Amino acid sequence: MTTVLIMVDGLRPDALAQVAAPSLAGLQARSACTLQARSVTPSVTLPCHTSIFHSVPPQRHGIVTNQWQAMARPLPGLVEQAKGAGRRCYFFHNWEPLRDLNRPEALEYSFYLNNCYTLEGDLVIAEQAARTIAADRPDFAFVYLGTVDVAGHNHGWMSDAYLRQVERVDQGIGAVLAVLSAEETVLLHSDHGGHDRTHGTELPEDMLIPWMIAGPGIRQGHTLSAEISLLDSAPTLARILQVPAHPHWEGRCVEEIFAH
Ligand SMILES: [Zn+2]
Repeated sequence: MTTVLIMVDGLRPDALAQVAAPSLAGLQARSACTLQARSVTPSVTLPCHTSIFHSVPPQRHGIVTNQWQAMARPLPGLVEQAKGAGRRCYFFHNWEPLRDLNRPEALEYSFYLNNCYTLEGDLVIAEQAARTIAADRPDFAFVYLGTVDVAGHNHGWMSDAYLRQVERVDQGIGAVLAVLSAEETVLLHSDHGGHDRTHGTELPEDMLIPWMIAGPGIRQGHTLSAEISLLDSAPTLARILQVPAHPHWEGRCVEEIFAH
């Protein structure tokens, strides 16, 4: 049984209604979903990802740019909590700074390829993830897809090229979903949106993100009314993985996703 977090970097929620993306649409239809989850400030990739995995805002972990630095006040993240409980965690990504999201010896497997600047890059990452998940069945897998953000920077958020890239990446998402059974959980969201050719501000275009989760015991076709932030992903995934949330985490498990 594998729980998967799929990250589509820079995916704006309002893009979903403007693309022909059957995998995303199918996942959304069988998910508990909101198109109004919130990123953190600054809405920049490495600060956001550090917050996703450690459930504290950038003001607490101290990483406020994409330049490497150690966390100001380190705390265990989702992968360390999972590893401590004996779970096997796998990473697949195509943006190199994400290698430092976890402490040494926390991962069982890591696949990195510097290909997020090529149109087909995410498909290579997704196919590698699909093959490896099917073969190894890790407890947790993180699948990071970086090309939609690159399309936004190169052509503008919500431009035709940006929307076509969402459609291209949808094929990769489909490849990952295809190896998961109905008994397995998938959470998909983005780290931030974007406007013009940039992001990082507190504008709604940058701050609002889609957040959708599907799996056993999770409501299907349910629009979430709870306010959800990136800080809530680690506590929610910890619950599903049946590992303890760290007491210093500031987000909370999104109880509304669960069918009762
Ligand atoms: Zn990003």
